[in-house]
Amino acid sequence: MILSEKGKPLLLSENYKFRQYRELETTGEMCWCCTVKNCVARIYTIGSEYVFSRKGGDHKHQPQSDQLINRQRISNQVKRKAEADIAERREN
Ligand SMILES: [Zn+2]
Repeated sequence: MILSEKGKPLLLSENYKFRQYRELETTGEMCWCCTVKNCVARIYTIGSEYVFSRKGGDHKHQPQSDQLINRQRISNQVKRKAEADIAERREN
């Protein structure tokens, strides 16, 4: 799981990105929908570790390039580092 630029949880699966949609009361699964507008693909996960459960629907587009996803991963790492630095400074 990664965080979006706005700090929202995002899930990466086979180079497709999903945003957290809602929890299903019946099964306790978390439903994630594709971040691409009008795409009906969904995936479902179980538990706080977001273990893959099943998927539903098909993507109507190509997956994102590795390059783009790597860039987002890096920006997440940088952001986490920056937050850690701020926390450290507060303690001193
Ligand atoms: Zn999609």
